[in-house]
Amino acid sequence: MKTVFLDRDGVINRLRQGDYVKSWSEFEFLPTAIPAIRYLSQADCRLIIVTNQAGVSKGIVSPEVLETIHQKMVVEIENGGGRIDAIYYCPHRDEDNCRCRKPKPGLLEQAIREHTIDPINRFLVGDSLRDIVAGQAVGCKTCLVANSQPVEDAGPDQILPDLLAAASWIISTLDRLGESENRGNTHKPE
Ligand SMILES: [Mg+2]
Ligand SMILES: [Zn+2]
Repeated sequence: MKTVFLDRDGVINRLRQGDYVKSWSEFEFLPTAIPAIRYLSQADCRLIIVTNQAGVSKGIVSPEVLETIHQKMVVEIENGGGRIDAIYYCPHRDEDNCRCRKPKPGLLEQAIREHTIDPINRFLVGDSLRDIVAGQAVGCKTCLVANSQPVEDAGPDQILPDLLAAASWIISTLDRLGESENRGNTHKPE
């Protein structure tokens, strides 16, 4: 199934610079996030959130609070007509040396094991180069959402201002891929 991996902070909700979202009241949806998720859901994309949450390892956010924040986030998204199929988070810090903290691809690999994910039609949207590197490691087409061009050259396929622009790019890319598939008569409905 065509799948879009979404980073959370800075893509769905406003990034709290140098801080974590420690409670639901600190979770602020970015303006276009809910419509963008609805748009992708209506295009039959499976949406999977993959998020680094080192605040858990630091004892700043408990796993229970994080779960509650995610439950409320999903309810708001569903009220807005969208859907989230799964959420994977890494609770670790860099020094924990885990396999799941992005830029490592562990969260994505786990999601790929646990879902049927089309190898061609897979995308990742993130606001950091860590996200892009992780997505590229598992063959995603990648989109960096950023207000300015990144200094380093991680080579995302696209750099766009927000999730809504990313969603439009993903949907037009899927349409294009679908067309070339039909021309080649190699279609396989999902
Ligand atoms: Mg982020
Ligand atoms: Zn981890």
